[in-house]
Amino acid sequence: MKETFNLIATAAAGLEAVVGREIRDLGLDCQVENGRVRFKGDISAIMMTNLWLRAADRIKIVVGSFPAKTFEELFQGVFALDWENYLPLGAKFPISKAKCVKSKLHNEPSVQAISKKAVVKKLQKHYARPEGVPLMENGAEYKIEVSILKDTATVLIDTSGSSLFKRGYRTEKGGAPLKENMAAAILLLSNWYPDKPLIDPTCGSGTFCIEAAMIGMNIAPGLHRSFAFEEWSWVDKEALRQARSDALRQIHQEIELDIAGSDLDARLVEIAEKNAAAAGVAKQVRFKQMRLQDLHTDKINGVIVSNPPYGERLLDADAVTKLYQDMGKTFAPLKTWSKFILTSDEAFETKYGSQADKKRKLYNGTLKVDLYQYFGQRVKRQLD
Ligand code: SAH
Repeated sequence: MKETFNLIATAAAGLEAVVGREIRDLGLDCQVENGRVRFKGDISAIMMTNLWLRAADRIKIVVGSFPAKTFEELFQGVFALDWENYLPLGAKFPISKAKCVKSKLHNEPSVQAISKKAVVKKLQKHYARPEGVPLMENGAEYKIEVSILKDTATVLIDTSGSSLFKRGYRTEKGGAPLKENMAAAILLLSNWYPDKPLIDPTCGSGTFCIEAAMIGMNIAPGLHRSFAFEEWSWVDKEALRQARSDALRQIHQEIELDIAGSDLDARLVEIAEKNAAAAGVAKQVRFKQMRLQDLHTDKINGVIVSNPPYGERLLDADAVTKLYQDMGKTFAPLKTWSKFILTSDEAFETKYGSQADKKRKLYNGTLKVDLYQYFGQRVKRQLD
């Protein structure tokens, strides 16, 4: 099969640069684009990125790219790709997704059907199977995606399976959970480091606290889940087993972290505790039931992260206004603490009572949100 792959890590809008940084930290060169980061690598790069990237959605192989203004061009383009290097005889290969944007070809079901025909024909030819007899598809699954943008088709194979935000630790969630990779990305964007205290006063199912503990303990986010590529016959299972046991060995079990989550809703606090236990970070995170209005601390130089109710999903407009006002009052005495607050409310700063030092546009699912960033005042040490 292939030695080197053209790869992309897909990322939510606004988080591409974070994913790019993570890929570089794994020692891989990359280019950051809208919604994706491109890189090249071998099968171990596929393993390492799936296992270690905290902010990405999925890792996909780019099989090829070509102009496709007509169905004939699409068929010939797909047929010309080197499918024999990816799909063994018996492979299951649904065209799981087709997307057409600003292109002559726009009928997505037809794009799927034509692409499927082209791959089938190529494999029949390569494996010397008679045409007209369907290929058996009883082996491992290779999900193929075709996206046509401005008349250029790109054909991809998904290596991840379910999206990488699914770490496998979240047994239950509240009404408006944050995706795990979004929570991790915000922490990576923030000025929090594992030696600083972290508080999430609206913790819900505990996502920020759990992701922070996983960063602090150096737990690979994909350690407890499986990936589509693991089923592929040409992937060395021993190498993957090795990568997983290396990741286990790299966990800082003894690190001391100061991470606390609280929520108004006692039921959610219980869920957060369960999730933390499932993620292997129970000892590193403290959860309790508390109103954010009751938050006090004498600690300094910490970081508050919060994904409060927005009004859209959990509270009515007046309650949200009151909550944001209370937040402003409660956080105001914590002058050395930085605060990172994620909300879709465009009037947040007015309600909270102060202008953010920095704002960053993000998407929580399909909802446009902003990350309001307030940086803590540096405390100067007294020199003797
Ligand atoms: N990030 C969380 C979801 C947060 S949703 C996750 O990933 O699960 C907002 C949370 O704020 C809800 O759990 C809600 O119970 C909590 N909340 C609302 N008002 C609050 C208050 N006054 N004090 C503390 N928590 C509050």
